[in-house]
Amino acid sequence: MDNLKQLKNDEIIELIKNGKVTVADIVDSGICPTCFDKENNHILYGDKTDKMIYEDDKFECFLIGNPRANGHTAISTKKHYKDMMEIDDITCKEIFILAKKIMKNLKKVYEAESIYLCTMCDGPMNHFHIQLIPRYSFEKRGSKNFVKPRFEYKEDKDKLQELRELLG
Ligand SMILES: [Zn+2]
Repeated sequence: MDNLKQLKNDEIIELIKNGKVTVADIVDSGICPTCFDKENNHILYGDKTDKMIYEDDKFECFLIGNPRANGHTAISTKKHYKDMMEIDDITCKEIFILAKKIMKNLKKVYEAESIYLCTMCDGPMNHFHIQLIPRYSFEKRGSKNFVKPRFEYKEDKDKLQELRELLG
């Protein structure tokens, strides 16, 4: 599947619906999966509105659907950048100030001991985002927290509401 770029949008969508194209195929053909998802009615990742904790004209911040910890969060730019090296300095500053604010509130609401931050965005095509991963008091400190096993997201309405209120 390295010729996806030559296909029309509708043809790619049809292939996704038939399970013939995965997110990895999209990435490998140089198409941004995040932008493709946004432009095509969330065909790849589903509607994230129920997981959104903060949004403004430049950024969106949402709980992850297959988290490594309760409160695992992503902050993403609305505009497409391939990775952190591609963003301008102002956006870089803004996203880190936003990350700080979200970390403080995640720590409080989830009663985490610490919040880890990472950004990777590797591969032929990706969409710049930062991940925030809580580390709890019953967990050991250290980089293994970045690769804790993923599990299925379960909505906690109270925490969601508290976070949204704190983040305005
Ligand atoms: Zn993108």
